[in-house]
Amino acid sequence: MIRGFSILIFVFLFFSPTRVVSASSRPLPERVKIGLATARPSLVLNLPAGTVISTPEGPRWQVELQTGLTLTGRNDGHLVAGETDFGPGPLRFAGPGFLGWNGRVYRGEFVVVRRPEGLTLINELAFEDYLRGVVPAEVDPTWPMEALKAQAVAARTFALARLGYHQREGFDLCASVHCQAYLGAGAERATTDAAVLDTVGQVITFQGRLISAYFHAASGGHTEDVEAVWPTATPFTYLRGVPDPAEVSPYDEWRVELDWSTVQAAVAAKYPGLGRLVSLVILHRTATGRVSTLELVGEKGQVQINGQEVRTLFGLRSTLFSLEVVHAPVPLVRGEDLAHLPVHPSPAATAVAWSTLLAAEDREFLPIQLVVVGRGWGHGVGLSQWGAKGLAEQGYTYIDILKYYYQGTEVEDWRPSQDIPPVPAEKGEAS
Ligand SMILES: [Zn+2]
Repeated sequence: MIRGFSILIFVFLFFSPTRVVSASSRPLPERVKIGLATARPSLVLNLPAGTVISTPEGPRWQVELQTGLTLTGRNDGHLVAGETDFGPGPLRFAGPGFLGWNGRVYRGEFVVVRRPEGLTLINELAFEDYLRGVVPAEVDPTWPMEALKAQAVAARTFALARLGYHQREGFDLCASVHCQAYLGAGAERATTDAAVLDTVGQVITFQGRLISAYFHAASGGHTEDVEAVWPTATPFTYLRGVPDPAEVSPYDEWRVELDWSTVQAAVAAKYPGLGRLVSLVILHRTATGRVSTLELVGEKGQVQINGQEVRTLFGLRSTLFSLEVVHAPVPLVRGEDLAHLPVHPSPAATAVAWSTLLAAEDREFLPIQLVVVGRGWGHGVGLSQWGAKGLAEQGYTYIDILKYYYQGTEVEDWRPSQDIPPVPAEKGEAS
């Protein structure tokens, strides 16, 4: 395939660039740069026939037949595919149709940049087309239209306020929930397209400025004050916790059971100074009940971590949880017993085996499992997606929904004068 590639493309001599950068002021940025992949040793791009490949000097090649192009970074800094040397890049790919990568298809153009850590793949496309790939990635396209429109306006507002967040990596937003989920053109549905189109250009403002439109899957019954989740965040008055009366979600209650060995390993990897983990203690909760401080007590010390750190450490859906450590009896280890003690691969099995050997007075109780029971999914700040669905089913409009979750705000057409708000709080985890 690679060997054949040089046959499929030809040096492009008579192409005049058609991309026109308009200087006229428009209600929205024309284009947005979305980071699809970073630090990759290679990238396999699926390019339709007619795709034009440009260097910073201009168009250089055109793909004659649809092809899978495996790009790698050579030691001299050049981007190569088989025998074809594309130079140092960046390379721009503009197709007559969708461009493909990693099983997904995308509107707009691809840009591949060679960086010290590897290859970066950027999807540059029309801003509203980007939203068409975000809304169905964030919510179910079969939900009521007013919930989809609320998501479209929140996603538009969030993206505008976060443009340039990944500037140092060469793009505006990433395609994961770190910013907001984006799955490209293959995810588009008629309903979510309509939600984007029907609200085109509309954003959420507070006192005339764009808001930081955080959203999450399910609040578990009550959304959260922003600074309760991220202590360093600006305590915007529009990001106050509100009851979530209509939310009915698959995450109304969830349960996670972790082997104590798994818990130990996670804690030891992140906090190696603690020694063997002895217990976990919830020290503080927010006003809505979310865990804000958890203490990990080890044999050699203890550490207090915040709710988001707990979520990351144990892979929990939310910080709205209670936990219980399950103990099992195991024997006090005495030297003369050691030779006779059964050994099993799991602590639980070992504990059971030991308990059959020794009298009750010889046992102590050691942790074997951590059970966490919680509600909701996500950080709990701003719009609750499942709550918005419930409100839409009750007949509320998308404007009602947005003004409920973002108190004191307005929904209006975006104007450049609305300017970008202060740098939003670090999200840095699943929404
Ligand atoms: Zn991001």
